[in-house]
Amino acid sequence: MQEPFEVIVVGAGYVGSSIAYHLCTAGVKTALFDRGLFAAAASRANYGNIQIQDMEMENSIEMIQMAAKKFETLEEELDWKVGLRRIGGLLLIENENQMYLMREREKVGRMAGFQSELLTDRELQEVEPLIDTSRLLGGLYHAKEGQVDPFQFIWGHLTRARQRGLREFYGVEVTGFIENSGRIEGIRTTQGDFYAKLVVLCTGAYTRALGKTLGRDWDVRYVLGQAMVTEPVGLALCGHISSASFFEQGDEIVGGGAVIANLALSQTMHGHLLLGEAMYTAEHFKKDVPYASLPGVGRAAVRYFPAFGKLRVLRGWCAPVAHTSDGCPFLGPVPELEGLFLATAFRSTVIISPLIGETVMQWFVRGNCDLNIEKFSPERKNQHAH
Ligand SMILES: Cc1cc2nc3c(=O)[nH]c(=O)nc-3n(C[C@H](O)[C@H](O)[C@H](O)COP(=O)(O)OP(=O)(O)OC[C@H]3O[C@@H](n4cnc5c(N)ncnc54)[C@H](O)[C@@H]3O)c2cc1C
Repeated sequence: MQEPFEVIVVGAGYVGSSIAYHLCTAGVKTALFDRGLFAAAASRANYGNIQIQDMEMENSIEMIQMAAKKFETLEEELDWKVGLRRIGGLLLIENENQMYLMREREKVGRMAGFQSELLTDRELQEVEPLIDTSRLLGGLYHAKEGQVDPFQFIWGHLTRARQRGLREFYGVEVTGFIENSGRIEGIRTTQGDFYAKLVVLCTGAYTRALGKTLGRDWDVRYVLGQAMVTEPVGLALCGHISSASFFEQGDEIVGGGAVIANLALSQTMHGHLLLGEAMYTAEHFKKDVPYASLPGVGRAAVRYFPAFGKLRVLRGWCAPVAHTSDGCPFLGPVPELEGLFLATAFRSTVIISPLIGETVMQWFVRGNCDLNIEKFSPERKNQHAH
């Protein structure tokens, strides 16, 4: 039998790597498992934006406030350059309904201490000079959101964790759990059984399938998010731009097979433009999205940035992004199954992940945590599996 660990973390994306780092820093004997390499799923597909204005407005404000603060000291604490840039985040408003939703968001954001401001269509050009405002009513702007380099962020956390004793198991799939009298004692994998006092699932869109091996039906849904990258250009965007239409769809994306193309535009520090984001709603797990969504992404981008119409696209990709029906994550111990903890389906994972790492560490080491996680319980009442 393998020597037991104190904690087994499953999933080496943003969330799992941050949890592994915080546990190892606190001296906890930790193992990290992934069936691929690190950043094998959604975490290799994303833009690295630190999104504040995207928050779920009822239960997640405290979480975003605490999470945003952690970025002030992140590089120093980690002693690693994660490519942190303070750039603005702009949500474009295309109709009256979106204007109403953004006014609400501005109000709630300001009450929480965030510097959100509604801009008129004319003011938009002051923050994004290349934008065509002819079809816009305005925008909701936060001057200090930000961006990290996704690879450096995850690799930095893993490197520091490894230096503090992390054991990594890549290419090893978790197939089930070792359960004994209502207690999880470890995991079953394609390379044998491994034991720990606590198993933390950071498995994103795949979490529901693992729950089913235990007879649980956690309401983790997903969309396949798709994006493209262009050849590098000079400075074209000052910040991250997305469409307020994301919020018109609400948290519950119903039905399978629909292609939804919302605008999500960013520029990397190397000058490449990231164009997205078409979402393909999938009821059954799929690995790819239809080609029909690629033109949707392109059209969404050039509608407001005609200057990008002639850029060459280098490649496109997609990844399953987890979400829940009420827009709040699953973060906490699984009721009546001691030894199992979920940390998944975060709405804006990049901003949240350093806080989640710290929270899970505190919960394991101290038995409680600074962040109130009760409302994020995996089997809370307002969740409904379907
Ligand atoms: C185009 C695009 C752009 C995005 N941009 C942003 C952005 O700018 N900012 C932002 O905050 N979010 C963004 N997102 C969303 C973000 O990428 C995800 O929310 C985030 O990566 C989820 O991280 P995670 O660690 O929870 O899960 P994942 O990265 O999905 O990691 C789950 C891991 O678990 C592993 N796993 C699953 N099942 C098993 C098993 N049985 N055994 C072993 N391993 C297993 C997988 O291999 C995977 O590595 C974007 C998404 C897309 C698609």
